[in-house]
Amino acid sequence: MEAENISLYIRGGNIEMTCAIDVALAQFESTDPFIQRALQAMVPLLEGTEASERLANSQLYVVDYRDAPPDILKGRFYTDNCAALLEEQAILVNEAYLLETEAAMRSFGLAGKLYAIPYLRSDEDLFGLVDRIQPDPRRYVNRLRLLDHLPGREEADSEAVDSLAILLMFLIGHELGHLNQNQDQRAFGAFIDPEAPLETHVGSSLVKLARHVRELNRLGCTLPVFREVIDESSEIGLNVKNWCEKLSDSQLNYQHWYLDESNADDHAAVLLQQVLDRMVATNPFRADHLLACIVNALFATALYYWQRDLMIFLCKLGCNKLTNVMDLALIMARQHENYIHAADLFGEVHRFTLLRAILTMDALLHARGAYSEPIDKPVRRIEPVNELPELDRNIARECLLREQLLCIHVDTAVKIAYSCLASGWMLESGKAREQIHYMVFESIQQSVGRLKELM
Ligand SMILES: [Zn+2]
Repeated sequence: MEAENISLYIRGGNIEMTCAIDVALAQFESTDPFIQRALQAMVPLLEGTEASERLANSQLYVVDYRDAPPDILKGRFYTDNCAALLEEQAILVNEAYLLETEAAMRSFGLAGKLYAIPYLRSDEDLFGLVDRIQPDPRRYVNRLRLLDHLPGREEADSEAVDSLAILLMFLIGHELGHLNQNQDQRAFGAFIDPEAPLETHVGSSLVKLARHVRELNRLGCTLPVFREVIDESSEIGLNVKNWCEKLSDSQLNYQHWYLDESNADDHAAVLLQQVLDRMVATNPFRADHLLACIVNALFATALYYWQRDLMIFLCKLGCNKLTNVMDLALIMARQHENYIHAADLFGEVHRFTLLRAILTMDALLHARGAYSEPIDKPVRRIEPVNELPELDRNIARECLLREQLLCIHVDTAVKIAYSCLASGWMLESGKAREQIHYMVFESIQQSVGRLKELM
């Protein structure tokens, strides 16, 4: 199979379909050799799944938008990351997003073991990684790809291909979920737009974050000292409730959007589980290797994009360069309005980034017997469930460490979300003038330290 033809191959029977989207995008399809190999590696993995039939009747475009004209960049055929277009039955993936994600995955993957990852030594190291990748992900990822050919790294290339292939499968599974639900969705993820104005409306900020706080709380991400924030009999809780009633239309929208998005995430998890379960029958070692690849990929992307969003958010607040969470605490404490602006960190339609990754990792690890109970709910399984030997100890440990570190590190986001609800009330009740809201956040090394105490 010619490398350049891979997305055409996945498009299967639709070759004659020369509709508007094909005219617009075919010339900008990615020819990146590594992405092509990952797409090729994905095809046999998908074989026999419902997704593969569905893809044969849809169109998949991995698009390099660098030379695309403004009407495409401003139009319906553009996405920052991934999108599902209902009318065209098409899935779009932005090549630049894949390259940046690959750079993050490769950076976190170099060390192998979690405790050896250099970017987890300090906030400075973690922000430094974002600083190095973000200005030119294409160049950075090309440098990382060269490391695959160094002596002693014989496995590195095939592991990187597997990791990107299975991550692509997750992204595509999510978008197929939207198509199955008859939804037209423009973005897989919510990342902060450096150009967009900050959220300034207290009510919309509270309504949006109340939804996140309720979900975080339901899933056990709570702060005991902030309990009154969600207690409707408290002044803060009552203020949130009043806003939710006043802006009931947006509140209903948020509920609706979140549900669509979590269903699409579930759809992706079901697909991954089906692929893993089918693989178990013929090659259980490879199935567990792929499980480790997806856990590593979700871990790296979740942590990288959260850190990147924090950095962009703080730039928008006027901070030139963020180096650690001490800076974050000081900037947030300057004025209560900063917590209102912070609603931008959570996105409009999606569940919170870190939470989405945690729930998918958790569901897959639970299905493999690593946990007796899932955090949320078990992943739906299509294939018959086979009795398996225990998951390899090293794989199990590395996967669990990654999920648990995200569970610990979600603390900063939880504090920001709860603080937003409290700040809204303080601003409206006039108390903001009397009280400074100084919140202590946890650095990545503190999170790792807590993880070491646990495991
Ligand atoms: Zn989506």
